[in-house]
Amino acid sequence: MGVGDGARQRAALGTWPTPLEPAPRLARALGLGADDLWVKRDDLTGLGGGGNKVRKLEWLCGAALAEGATTLVTTGAAQSNHARLTAAAGARLGLDVVLVLAGSPDSSASGNLVLDGLFGAGVVWAGKVRGAKLAAAAERVAEGLRQRGAVPCVIPLGGSSPVGAYGYAECGRELLDQAPDLDTVVATLGSGGMMAGLVDTLGPGRVLGVDCGAVDDPAGTVTGLVAGLSGTVHAPGDLRLRHDQVGAGYSALTEESMDALTLAGRTEGLALEPVYTGRALAGLRAAVRDGSVAPGRRTVLLHSGGLPGLFGHAAAVARSQEALTVLSP
Ligand SMILES: *Cc1c(COP(=O)(O)O)cnc(C)c1O
Repeated sequence: MGVGDGARQRAALGTWPTPLEPAPRLARALGLGADDLWVKRDDLTGLGGGGNKVRKLEWLCGAALAEGATTLVTTGAAQSNHARLTAAAGARLGLDVVLVLAGSPDSSASGNLVLDGLFGAGVVWAGKVRGAKLAAAAERVAEGLRQRGAVPCVIPLGGSSPVGAYGYAECGRELLDQAPDLDTVVATLGSGGMMAGLVDTLGPGRVLGVDCGAVDDPAGTVTGLVAGLSGTVHAPGDLRLRHDQVGAGYSALTEESMDALTLAGRTEGLALEPVYTGRALAGLRAAVRDGSVAPGRRTVLLHSGGLPGLFGHAAAVARSQEALTVLSP
């Protein structure tokens, strides 16, 4: 039995299905036909400012409630969308939330951190750590909570366990209902759960992942999650992945992403952010240029949300002000 059968419990948190909208002006600007490009609006998932983590959190929180958890513990960067949405999910479900964030208390409160505070989460600053060290810091926090009588449930970085990725296997089914002729869905690869769920439903040939540099072994991370989700084994080399949008690293602003932000804004009034969705559109643009995404087929850009992160990204905020056209009165 796969993890999707019966055994799973879902906590209702989001608004489904999310819209699939045409983007004809953006399509033409990219060199596609006007009817070729559609945007899957997973920024409109409803809870806590929206975004892709809501799909994962429905299943992660369902499992936490089934285990009798009283407190959700998770990790991320200071501007983590996943941390913000875990805070919102905890508030909605009456669970305490502790966010173990990389960085230090003087990280200026902006973007997602503003919402973390409003949603009532506690924050533990873990210092300059990532990967296994950040996960270990979360385990120590959970142990301390246990000693004080709480029942913590530790949710991994980005909610990317097989349980969380199941939410994106469901998104794949939703997409097939909305667009049965879907050729390629373009999605950012961060902690890997979103791509893994999509690949599980749609197969590796229909999912183009744009790596944003969040994990060390993106292909292995995705294939491992798919195997954990349904038992299906894919070779990492069978995935369609682009690594050309990472630039100087996960949180760094790339020229391509910045250009994508203005392109989406000026053709469709669509708000992207620099770390994930800007890279997804930049990756799609590069894919059209090199022919790996072609006109005459249905392409879907997965808008995974993250807008608060734009306002927490100093370099992107500064560049957007340079882009502002100031007219004389
Ligand atoms: C987390 C996130 C992603 C990446 O999803 P993963 O499942 O972590 O790969 C993409 N976009 C936004 C806005 C996110 O917050």
